[in-house]
Amino acid sequence: TSFGFKEVREEEKSQMVGKVFSNVASNYDLMNDFMSAGLHRLWKDRLVSKLSPFPGMKHLDVAGGTGDVAFRILESINSIRRRALQDPINDDLQEETRIYVCDINQNMLNVGKNRALERGLGEDKSLVWVQGDAEALSFEDNSMDGYTIAFGIRNVTHIEKVLTEAYRVLKRGGRFLSLELSHVEIPVFKELYDLYSFSVIPRLGEVVAGDRESYQYLVESIRRFPPQEKFASMIADAGFQKVEYENLVGGVVAIHSGLKI
Ligand code: SAM
Repeated sequence: TSFGFKEVREEEKSQMVGKVFSNVASNYDLMNDFMSAGLHRLWKDRLVSKLSPFPGMKHLDVAGGTGDVAFRILESINSIRRRALQDPINDDLQEETRIYVCDINQNMLNVGKNRALERGLGEDKSLVWVQGDAEALSFEDNSMDGYTIAFGIRNVTHIEKVLTEAYRVLKRGGRFLSLELSHVEIPVFKELYDLYSFSVIPRLGEVVAGDRESYQYLVESIRRFPPQEKFASMIADAGFQKVEYENLVGGVVAIHSGLKI
């Protein structure tokens, strides 16, 4: 490629990712809105609707630093709960709802915690912030009803390890869901999208966030990520069943899912 990231070795990748997200953390929300024209909000809504959250669930959102996915899951559970407000059984369940937000980068977690405070969720026991590596989770086997990873798996060093860990921590019947930037194969739209990502995004990174290199790296990482079918077969290889995916905006983004049976 023309960006010189091709030679990045494995050990360097995690350092690079750490640096990218430390630099990016404070501008993160702004840049997401700019780069996706606000669409990332709808994509995350779609991810959470596929999860079908329920009161009392134990959920793990990996690479979830800013809390975007976790807040949506909690809102969805709270709206179910409001509908059944007088039901003491549901109240008990709510007590046990746990949404763990796991991220390797403390800066991202701090952004998320601040946002929880702003939303009045600072005291909410359902949200638990945990610093940790998706490739070596600190959670017990068979402990989670759901697992989400949004715009996170593309950045890890070993995708297989992340999938194996996801499988390990999920209970039987638990669902794995990944939301990730993916591959556009539709003619003309593909060319326009390439132009946008290789020219416009690094420029936006420079102008809005003052950091061209980090955004060039992000674009490059999209190109390296396995295409939809390949990623689906990796999920199946980790042991998941009923593996499927849905393309959004022609494959700009894909939601993959699998069940641990
Ligand atoms: N899920 C959030 C969202 O959709 O807005 C954040 C996505 S952000 C693009 C990617 C996140 O992955 C960063 O917060 C980064 O720190 C985290 N990350 C990168 N490598 C990781 C790893 N090995 N384990 C856990 N988190 C990781």
